[in-house]
Amino acid sequence: TPTLAVVGRPNVGKSSLVNRIIGRREAVVQDIPGVTRDRVSYEALWGGRKFTVVDTGGWEPDAKGLQGDVAAQAERAMLTTDAVMMVVDASVGATATDEAMAKVLRRSKRPVILAANKVDDERVVGDVASLWTLGLGEPHPVSALHGRGSGDLLDAMLAALPATPSEFSGGGNIGPRRVALLGKPNVGKSSLLNKLAGDSRSVVNAMAGTTIDPVDSLVEIDGEVWRFVDTAGLRRRVHQAKGMEFYASLRTQTALESAEVAIVLIDSSEPLTEQDQRVITMVIESGRALVIALNKADLVDAERREDSNRELERDLVRVQWAQRINISALTGRATHRLAPALRTALESWDRRIPTGRLNGWLAELIQGTPPPVRGGKQPRVLFATQAANRPPTFVLFTTGFLEAGYRRFIERRLREDFAFTGSPVRVNVRVRE
Ligand code: GDP
Repeated sequence: TPTLAVVGRPNVGKSSLVNRIIGRREAVVQDIPGVTRDRVSYEALWGGRKFTVVDTGGWEPDAKGLQGDVAAQAERAMLTTDAVMMVVDASVGATATDEAMAKVLRRSKRPVILAANKVDDERVVGDVASLWTLGLGEPHPVSALHGRGSGDLLDAMLAALPATPSEFSGGGNIGPRRVALLGKPNVGKSSLLNKLAGDSRSVVNAMAGTTIDPVDSLVEIDGEVWRFVDTAGLRRRVHQAKGMEFYASLRTQTALESAEVAIVLIDSSEPLTEQDQRVITMVIESGRALVIALNKADLVDAERREDSNRELERDLVRVQWAQRINISALTGRATHRLAPALRTALESWDRRIPTGRLNGWLAELIQGTPPPVRGGKQPRVLFATQAANRPPTFVLFTTGFLEAGYRRFIERRLREDFAFTGSPVRVNVRVRE
């Protein structure tokens, strides 16, 4: 669903207005100073449309040094949502703080709706017009307390929200989670699919009843249905001749495009090949979650396995974050461990770290290990926000250039401290001013 952030300086009535929008009975949310409220997003419905409301009131008391930094609050809102509602106290008029925030919002590409709150009676209505000076278009008079004008405000807001959700909204999960089964020819993809399908209580054709080839296979594992995408060739065990590598990589590409998580099969009875690495590179570039299955474990004796595991450790350092499972598609050994690994990877891939928690963590990390001085200047890391999930993507705001080594350090600690097992994590740095 599209996402809307409600921003404004403290005490303008953001939380009360959020309650109006989401139709909750309690008039006021209890604000506890110094305590970060993690739950700041709410699902709402108006005029038959669903959308998500983010109450930035929950952002205020977090991360040291950011308190009351309304420009930062607005900037964060713009980064993570589809539209922004700025709330102003009409009984006070536009303050310098309001103007600073409006300035940031005017620069954004996102639609902004201006709510003139606390218009509790006719006397204040006249003051509303003065808010045009903020340069955010028509101010919409509303009384979060009495509900007056809130219908009109919601109509205006829905008109501003995009019809289709953006990348920030995360999308919904409709139907089974989508898995791509990847690996070089003869690594055991068909065997594994057949094994999983054979073990499952019911195998359903994704497009049952049609005469064309079903492309996907629905496989039930432990009561949960998974959609293995682009499996037509696999189920028919079409064997690829040499020189078919181009088509194999094309297949990998299309499968990845429709999948959320990939299982990359590797033949553990042989050394890792360049072709294996190419498949892994494609998964990394696609930003999908990843589980590595080391197949044909039945061909490897215990002694050999130790050596080959050490080699794999070295060859697969760039995907250290992915789970590796020794399986045998032939005997069915350990194939039951695949579903839990897929679940873990997807859970990491979907995850959103609440902004308050993220910045609390960041402040501590930076205090312990500050960014290295560069050209006589110490760059400061102002705050971080998770701009997207699937895969988790973070934006760091800084006052200067961060060295690659330090960026990697933050990335690694993010991954470790928040346990993003099985998912790539992206970190972008934005220098302000
Ligand atoms: P695909 O091309 O990746 O679909 O590979 P296949 O599933 O067709 O497997 C290729 C060959 O490897 C077949 O002869 C399989 O029987 C064999 N195979 C697959 N998995 C295993 C396994 O775990 N152990 C052993 N020993 N052979 C396997």
